[in-house]
Amino acid sequence: MEKNINILIEYQCPQCGAPATLNETDRLIRCEYCRVKSYLMQKDYFRFMLPNKAPGDKEIIFFPYWRFKGIFFAASTNGITHRLLDISYQAVESTFFPVSAGLRTQTLKMQFVAPNTKGNFLKPQLSIDEVMEIIHKRSPNNITGNFFHTAHIGESLSLIYAPFYLDRVLYDAVLNKPISNQVPDNVDIETLPGGSPAWSMRFIPTLCPQCGWDMEGDRGSLVLTCRNCNSIWKPGRKELKPLKFVHIPGQGDNIKYFPFYRVKAEISGLELFSYADLARIANIPKVIQKDWEEKEFFFWTLGFKVRPKIFLRIQRDLTLLQPQDNLQNSLPDSNIYPVTLPVKEAVEGLKIILGSFIKPRSKISELSKIKIKPKSFLLVYLPFDEQRHEYMQQKYKICINKNMLSHAGNL
Ligand SMILES: [Zn+2]
Ligand SMILES: [Zn+2]
Repeated sequence: MEKNINILIEYQCPQCGAPATLNETDRLIRCEYCRVKSYLMQKDYFRFMLPNKAPGDKEIIFFPYWRFKGIFFAASTNGITHRLLDISYQAVESTFFPVSAGLRTQTLKMQFVAPNTKGNFLKPQLSIDEVMEIIHKRSPNNITGNFFHTAHIGESLSLIYAPFYLDRVLYDAVLNKPISNQVPDNVDIETLPGGSPAWSMRFIPTLCPQCGWDMEGDRGSLVLTCRNCNSIWKPGRKELKPLKFVHIPGQGDNIKYFPFYRVKAEISGLELFSYADLARIANIPKVIQKDWEEKEFFFWTLGFKVRPKIFLRIQRDLTLLQPQDNLQNSLPDSNIYPVTLPVKEAVEGLKIILGSFIKPRSKISELSKIKIKPKSFLLVYLPFDEQRHEYMQQKYKICINKNMLSHAGNL
């Protein structure tokens, strides 16, 4: 059984103040009392804090942990392997604070970090990439060494602050108990770089920035859709930004449109600019047509979360197929499946997609020399036929079993 634990966060309705709980993957919330919808604006990742029971006179030290949930991919002579990662790990290297935030993140409700919280929020000193490297080096089979390329695609990334305080020894302020690791005399915790959290959660109304219409989305939807002026919006630095999108029209009564990213990338160390190049690299058993040299190559990645088992397969199949249909510059009129995977994460896996079809297999070793830099992307909705147990893309014969999707429901 695959574990699927969601962090729960307590918050107050920004409109009426009613207390409520949300999932770490929620982006669109609706208050049970005042019915007002709000969108959680997030440009990078959420910051949460664990509740504390420290005596009132203690200065709280908030120690940061990266929380990552996602898929780890590795390319070796055996092909591409994957595993699920669900971890929390120190964002500041320290021998006396616990290495991970522990199980408490799954049993206690957290809160968004609030700018007026008293205490010293330690500044993260390790990036999530550095943390991943440490984790792979420490894993029992020390996998990084033997791989030509590794990638991690995050479904959830956040920073969790756990509270501590000093009373001769270091106390865990969640439990109000001393922790076993003693602080060495030469370490002065009070001088560790930190300060006020300088971050606050932003709840914004779901009104279309262009026409004022009430936008639609799913609980876990990273983008909002305006049916009135036919636009899609994603979080930017300060405000919602329009997103370029198209759809390939489907036929039938039971169509659901799934989001994909068509990614243009700059590739060096490998000749991969056109469909003809792709046919040569993947050794597609077809005679290369002259016009294939003119057809631009794109990576196709998922815009939604699926189980690791089929994650790579769908991306590989679509990238090999290079859909060239008539792209419509509008929203599809039927059901849309929510965008739940950010493009920033999706493009982490481009080299893994390449590694999944490069032929002969021995060429997978070249991945370490190839550089792929994503340049631009287009959100493309592809039509799938809804059947009893699966969604089927009729033209490209791509099948998504319903139990391969995790889905929270519409709002
Ligand atoms: Zn409310
Ligand atoms: Zn609009």
